[in-house]
Amino acid sequence: MNANKNANRGEFALIDYIRQRAAGSPCVRVGIGDDCAVIDSPAGPLVITTDMIIEGVHFLRDTPLRQVGWKAAAASFSDVAAMGLSPEVLVCAAALPARLSMDDAREILLGLNDACEAYGVALAGGDTDSTPGGLSLCTTVIAHARGLKPVLRSGARVGDAILVTGSLGGSILGKHLAFRPRVAEAVALNTSFSLHAMIDISDGLSADLNHILEESKTGAVIDAEKVPVSDAARQLAKQTGKTPLQHALGDGEDFELLFTMDPGDARRLIERPIFDTPVAIIGEIVEDGLFLRIDGKLEPLKPQGYEHLGGGS
Ligand code: ADP
Ligand code: MG
Repeated sequence: MNANKNANRGEFALIDYIRQRAAGSPCVRVGIGDDCAVIDSPAGPLVITTDMIIEGVHFLRDTPLRQVGWKAAAASFSDVAAMGLSPEVLVCAAALPARLSMDDAREILLGLNDACEAYGVALAGGDTDSTPGGLSLCTTVIAHARGLKPVLRSGARVGDAILVTGSLGGSILGKHLAFRPRVAEAVALNTSFSLHAMIDISDGLSADLNHILEESKTGAVIDAEKVPVSDAARQLAKQTGKTPLQHALGDGEDFELLFTMDPGDARRLIERPIFDTPVAIIGEIVEDGLFLRIDGKLEPLKPQGYEHLGGGS
């Protein structure tokens, strides 16, 4: 009962509630429930995403402000990458606490600009306000599909291979501020292959995989020994008492790509890589449930990751 009560207050229960009641429009091809919304426009499909990063939640009061600016922009670029597309235009609203000086504000802008320059994105607007609370930044990014198909969370099919870029876990040791959203990789994959479903790992591998499973109405089996465990996960495990694998499965903010495709295509991608970033096949889509295969045996895998509003995930 407690768990239920918590779940009812949780972030995903709230998003579900909003989703049931949100006003619609015929131009919204994909609304709430994916990394970006997909909107019809005379220039073809557009994607749009918005995110907040908040002091004390996504960064600490003493985090270098240039890194805060980078993280705000890069997290939204990652949501566009999760659609298989390249971000084009950023607008950013900033709530600035009185303690910050003009120089501090410039540092935030430098961080936003670093990310925009690295990814060829225009910073085209925003809003600046003061706040009695901590620093927060809200970033909104749009991109045109430009002939590509936006890749949704809802397209996974039974039999698909599940793949992930990079390595996972322990991002709190540094990667969560300095990650490189996998934009070039996402666009190359979407150009060269038929991707069935994709998401970026912001909440955690098992939690984000679960988002794909819920939207696709499928299940998954993950092979424990195939999950690419990062050095940071190993290092963090020494302090936490968890295993490196638990960190790789449950930690958030790695901003790697998690995607599904035909198993034949997946083998071709592994045999003939189309970019330098490592890619691993970590499991397969099945009809129902979420399982971890360890030494040939299946164990139920609880989706674990960061959930705002403290609901049980
Ligand atoms: P991500 O981690 O990829 O940024 P979220 O978990 O924040 O995605 O959001 C999941 C989905 O719910 C997205 O489609 C997002 O646009 C939508 N969403 C989240 N919060 C709200 C809200 N307050 N109102 C409407 N839609 C929301
Ligand atoms: Mg996302």
